[in-house]
Amino acid sequence: MTIAKLRVIYINTKTIKLLKKDNFMPFISAPAKIVEIIDFAPGEIRAVRLKLPDDVEVKARPGNAFWLKLFGKASGRLEMRTYSFSSNPRSPIIETVVSKAAENPNTSWAFQEFLSGTELEARISEQNGKKSLFINPRKDLELEPDDWWQDKKFLFYGLGTGVTPHLSAIRYMAEKGMNVNVIYVSSSKLMRRLIFHDELENTQKRFPQNFRYLPFLTRENPETLKEWKYFTGRPTVEALTKLIPDISERHLRICGGKGTRKNLEKEANKFKINFPGVKTEEW
Ligand SMILES: Cc1cc2nc3c(=O)[nH]c(=O)nc-3n(C[C@H](O)[C@H](O)[C@H](O)COP(=O)(O)OP(=O)(O)OC[C@H]3O[C@@H](n4cnc5c(N)ncnc54)[C@H](O)[C@@H]3O)c2cc1C
Repeated sequence: MTIAKLRVIYINTKTIKLLKKDNFMPFISAPAKIVEIIDFAPGEIRAVRLKLPDDVEVKARPGNAFWLKLFGKASGRLEMRTYSFSSNPRSPIIETVVSKAAENPNTSWAFQEFLSGTELEARISEQNGKKSLFINPRKDLELEPDDWWQDKKFLFYGLGTGVTPHLSAIRYMAEKGMNVNVIYVSSSKLMRRLIFHDELENTQKRFPQNFRYLPFLTRENPETLKEWKYFTGRPTVEALTKLIPDISERHLRICGGKGTRKNLEKEANKFKINFPGVKTEEW
């Protein structure tokens, strides 16, 4: 009797979660055509530029994400997935970076095989006849208004494709003239998996007072690293405190797999570092 009651309560809690407003709204979509692909590691990780119809507005900030409906290679059916903007989000072309999931890849596997010209479906909203790209309701890494961030110090921390929302913010800040102080830490397994490495090096050259790029390689064979002038191993707090003397003055923005923030905060505690602000997105 008690167990039966408990089960009813459990189902109800789960059902409430499913009853979120956005799941109930009708799915309106617009074609999102792949117009450019930048393969970093073919079959593993790539950036994709998608063109939306001209009448679909993009009202978003760096750090936001959008929804695509696309074919799942493992499930064999259409699936909905969320993607962060890597570009400064604006119409009509948007960009994201997608890597093949390490375990049970589905849409992320299909993503690596799409050709230029492939049409996906982007979720849109329509109000008073005006169409706009639907923006993921959780906006954990949304960049604050420009007058808030201009005089702050940031530490952007991205593991793998976790750099995606940070890229969007960097590109936005660079376009705005970047009166800001950002250190961008990325972690990639191998050299070939570095995401927009040349562009980030150039941004550092263009804005030496405002931007530092600190990429880490975690699984590269030291023998192939003769040309590598940056860092190896994990970007631990210990490694970062040596490279960033003012680390505890920085607003930390984290993006990576589940548990990234917990690990980082645990390490930061050991070094008695209290960041003035921490924001995270994990997927
Ligand atoms: C806000 C947000 C932004 C994102 N931005 C990006 C981005 O910019 N680039 C990017 O590559 N990805 C991004 N993602 C992740 C993306 O939406 C997909 O989840 C990812 O591409 C993998 O898709 P998939 O269909 O291959 O695998 P999925 O079916 O999504 O599964 C991914 C992994 O999670 C595991 N998994 C799935 N369901 C469960 C479950 N119920 N319990 C436990 N494990 C489970 C799978 O085994 C697999 O290892 C974002 C996600 C969110 C929420």
